[in-house]
Amino acid sequence: MIPFLDLGAVNAPHAERISRAVQRVIRSGWYILGNEVTSFEAAFAEYCGTRHCIGVANGLEALTLVLKAWDFPAGSEVIVPSNTYIATVLAVTHAGLVPVFAEPDLTSYLLDPTKLEAAITSRTKAILPVHLYGRCCDMEAINALSRQYGLKVLEDAAQAHGAVYQGRQAGNLGDAAGFSFYPSKNLGALGDAGAITTNDSVLADRLRYLRNYGSGHKYRNDYTGYNSRLDEIQAAILTEKLPLLDEENARRRQLAGQYLAGITHSDITLPPSDRVSDDSWHLFVVRHPQRDGVRNYLRERGIGTDVHYPIPPHQQPAYAEYGHLSLPVAEQLHREIVSLPLNSALTDTQIQYIVDTINGYPG
Ligand SMILES: *Cc1c(COP(=O)(O)O)cnc(C)c1O
Repeated sequence: MIPFLDLGAVNAPHAERISRAVQRVIRSGWYILGNEVTSFEAAFAEYCGTRHCIGVANGLEALTLVLKAWDFPAGSEVIVPSNTYIATVLAVTHAGLVPVFAEPDLTSYLLDPTKLEAAITSRTKAILPVHLYGRCCDMEAINALSRQYGLKVLEDAAQAHGAVYQGRQAGNLGDAAGFSFYPSKNLGALGDAGAITTNDSVLADRLRYLRNYGSGHKYRNDYTGYNSRLDEIQAAILTEKLPLLDEENARRRQLAGQYLAGITHSDITLPPSDRVSDDSWHLFVVRHPQRDGVRNYLRERGIGTDVHYPIPPHQQPAYAEYGHLSLPVAEQLHREIVSLPLNSALTDTQIQYIVDTINGYPG
């Protein structure tokens, strides 16, 4: 049996370091916004190559707080991909802004820059590219458009810790970036956690207030802020795990390479293979016209899969106001995609078994 993801197995190599980190925090007697958060922020900023990192409670709030901090007029538009996790869209609407869906490219799964310009209106204030599945968007084209139209660029880097684009790390490719350290991400905490990276010192300052009740000095509140703090225990765990991220991503790249070289089934469409060593391979997502048939076949042979995601945001009950939209590329993707197991706990033998099983699928 190969589960889609066994987080206990993924964290097993870190178990002792994690225990020591938690003990360290318990003994310190300081549990919110202390040295652990400060030192993780410094380490993660250095990792991403940005001047600042601000730890926050989760990935959704990382994105939401940046959009709030930019303080756009109510009703301003933010362009988002039509095939993303719901959090990207929630960040926009929670900030009082309007999401405008732009279609992805069918083969890369990422925002299609050639369709982006048509989505820009006089109310557009920002573009929110999502480095979906761990592959960076075409940031050269996106940043060129943003300069041309005077827009902000907020990267959703929740799936892209350690992904690289033209030699630069995800998180350092726009005006700001939101990261999630949800347990299943490439850099995962043992609970909820998130961070913002940016080179903008004014924005960073504002975000440090906003995450902590709008306060920079105890009991003095300069803004109507939020409670969105990264806690000391999660920060300490992340500090222990960060040094091994590149090694784990290297392993993911190796396994992704094994899938790409091995899967030859004519009805399976593989993800792009032109930047294997730059992508962080958060997920390995293939397409098949009868996705559910493939999933059942694999399940019967002991292989767990998942779908990221079965329902596009505009068809979610929560966003009924967008239900009338026709976004055929996103809709096709959400019908056809299936995620194969890919994480640092898997062996070459297990991947080979999955490859052979898929190649033997009679459909
Ligand atoms: C996980 C994820 C988020 C949200 O992160 P949380 O920490 O769960 O709030 C946002 N965007 C994308 C693309 C994600 O995968």
